[in-house]
Amino acid sequence: MKKHKSDLVVVGAGAAGLFASIHATELGLKVLTLEKNEYAGKKLFITGKGRCNVTNDSDIGNFINQIYPNGKFLYPAFKNFFVDEVISFFEKQNVPLELERGGRYFPKSNKSSDIVNALVNRCKSLKINILYNSKVINILSENNEIFGLEYESNNTKFQVETKKIILCTGGKSYPLTGSTGDGYNFAQKLGHTIIDPKPSLVSLICKDNFFENIDNLTLKNIKANLMIDNKICKCEFGELEIQGKILLGPVILTLSRWAVEALEKKQKVDIVIDFKPALDYEQLNKRLIKDFNENSKTKFENLLKLIIPIKLIPVFIKVLEIDKNKLANQLNSNERKKIIQQLKEFKISIFENSGFANAIITNGGINTKEINPQTMESKIIKGLFFAGEIIDLDAKTGGYNLQIAFSTGWLAAM
Ligand SMILES: Cc1cc2nc3c(=O)[nH]c(=O)nc-3n(C[C@H](O)[C@H](O)[C@H](O)COP(=O)(O)OP(=O)(O)OC[C@H]3O[C@@H](n4cnc5c(N)ncnc54)[C@H](O)[C@@H]3O)c2cc1C
Repeated sequence: MKKHKSDLVVVGAGAAGLFASIHATELGLKVLTLEKNEYAGKKLFITGKGRCNVTNDSDIGNFINQIYPNGKFLYPAFKNFFVDEVISFFEKQNVPLELERGGRYFPKSNKSSDIVNALVNRCKSLKINILYNSKVINILSENNEIFGLEYESNNTKFQVETKKIILCTGGKSYPLTGSTGDGYNFAQKLGHTIIDPKPSLVSLICKDNFFENIDNLTLKNIKANLMIDNKICKCEFGELEIQGKILLGPVILTLSRWAVEALEKKQKVDIVIDFKPALDYEQLNKRLIKDFNENSKTKFENLLKLIIPIKLIPVFIKVLEIDKNKLANQLNSNERKKIIQQLKEFKISIFENSGFANAIITNGGINTKEINPQTMESKIIKGLFFAGEIIDLDAKTGGYNLQIAFSTGWLAAM
């Protein structure tokens, strides 16, 4: 086995690993970065639909509130390196960021490749030794202290002697990008507890066939309640997309964290959509009476065009069991009540989630109780540090997850 030496080995050249490598080198360490892919930042390239939502314009308190299950763990990391530092880092690399709706920062160029290139170019200018196609296969420790690791490259095994390792191997989501959960196995072998990894920020699959003929529909300004065992557990406003039996869009992605956990516990999971959140039942009743009176000779099918998107009309006719040819002036108050009920409480039973292959983030990972929040060092193994999605921390969409990776990478390097 071929051997070499390094002050620090960073495992993984994703968001966290690149930041950790850069900062550790800036602080004077000789760093070796090992990446099993053929290039760096494979996942970063696909973030924000190819635009990369780099961070969010929130203060620390609000940031922490968006992060589960223990956002407070990140306080020291955010105190050291937060939103302003990220903006200034990319500005120095000639990649200015721009603020968009919802406090989201994107590169002005709208290209995630500019973010990856900025990081890789900074690594090059610091002469960081990044070895690609190099898969770490074993972490070596003795008496609860790191002394090296083994990796494989071109069918050859190598050993690196080091006293410090930062594990930045990501979670399990989008495994094609390289995040296949390797870090969990290393950490578990070394005595760490892994909180069961689950897909999160993931689309949900309906049990019923209501929407099977709808190829693509975006509903804006709706309210969605997540019901677990018939009790409302979370509520979100905003945009929801329907693609056949699959529900997605920001509202669903945010609710998915709790839906997935409940489905795993075999609980009953429903999404209840309010298509008219701006109107209460009474206001909606008045609005329908007015519409029906003004269009008294209009067929029910055409009347629905005034109330819901065209693609939903066959769904409503089926669920309401009202004859589509009935005229507005033939609809009775019971039928109007049924329409109102479906507009305010359209219930969709959820069967399962779309899995890690389609999940933006992993819920679960290395238990934060076993990591020192001031340093990111393992409380079990001296010299072992963690950064990024490998840690049991996840947030909703909005740039929060990348900021977690950047800040923890930075702190671990320190
Ligand atoms: C489709 C999609 C869109 C997203 N959009 C956004 C967004 O716009 N904003 C946002 O904040 N977050 C977004 N995220 C989440 C964000 O990408 C992650 O939170 C972030 O990339 C995690 O960084 P990381 O460095 O911890 O892990 P990763 O980026 O997954 O990097 C881990 C690296 O480790 C390498 N590795 C793994 N095992 C080994 C091994 N044994 N040996 C060597 N190398 C190894 C992998 O190949 C990989 O390169 C998105 C995620 C997805 C999937």
